[in-house]
Amino acid sequence: MVKIKFLGTGTSYPTRGRVSSSCLVTVNGTRFLIDIGPSVLRRLVEYGLSVNNIDLILLTHFHVDHSGDLPAFLFACNYGIEPRMKPLKIIGGEGVRSFFRRVSHAFPWIKPKSYDLQILKVVNGKYSFCGVEIETKRTNHNRESIAIRMNMGVSVVFSGDTDYSKNLIELSRGVDLLIVECSFPERKVKGHMNLPTLKRIVEASKPKQVVITHLYPDWDEKIGEISSPYTVSYDGMEIEFNR
Ligand SMILES: [Zn+2]
Ligand SMILES: [Zn+2]
Repeated sequence: MVKIKFLGTGTSYPTRGRVSSSCLVTVNGTRFLIDIGPSVLRRLVEYGLSVNNIDLILLTHFHVDHSGDLPAFLFACNYGIEPRMKPLKIIGGEGVRSFFRRVSHAFPWIKPKSYDLQILKVVNGKYSFCGVEIETKRTNHNRESIAIRMNMGVSVVFSGDTDYSKNLIELSRGVDLLIVECSFPERKVKGHMNLPTLKRIVEASKPKQVVITHLYPDWDEKIGEISSPYTVSYDGMEIEFNR
């Protein structure tokens, strides 16, 4: 069984209902966190989980709205009632190791005390973690940004932040579910998508379902205008596949 829970569907600018980006993917008991923006740690606790329940963290890129709670997460791993024992993997694009070095230089208390931490770079390749095939491609956002495809009986793509991207089209071709940033319905900002840009991606890659995430307040008046195959995500939304 595969379960996807949206922990955060917002952006760098938090709103009442949406915290920064994150999805929790549970596959046969293994838990993957895709991005860990500010307030995501709080969301985990609200949903009855703790840092010790997470097995892998995948970072689409290092902007604060996708990584800001990483130091808080690692700090909590060291100072819980029961210190973390099980290994943790942090997976990201170009520069993920130096990103971690720089963060742990600022916050030396986050270095693991009681568990094994692996930092792994995954760029433009296929990898296997805990029985799940993970494929990544660079996207059109910043130096390290990647989109992530998880093949686990069902196929799911997480776009991360991106502008129009041929790599995203390739990665999303025929996928069961595309979870995609569409920061604005109309406004076009370099490095992000609006609805017309997203439609070009969807027409070319033909995913079966599209869930829009990474929503700025521009969306507030527009959500009612969206129809199949598009759905707009909200914090706490769940999607399950029984395959
Ligand atoms: Zn972002
Ligand atoms: Zn970004």
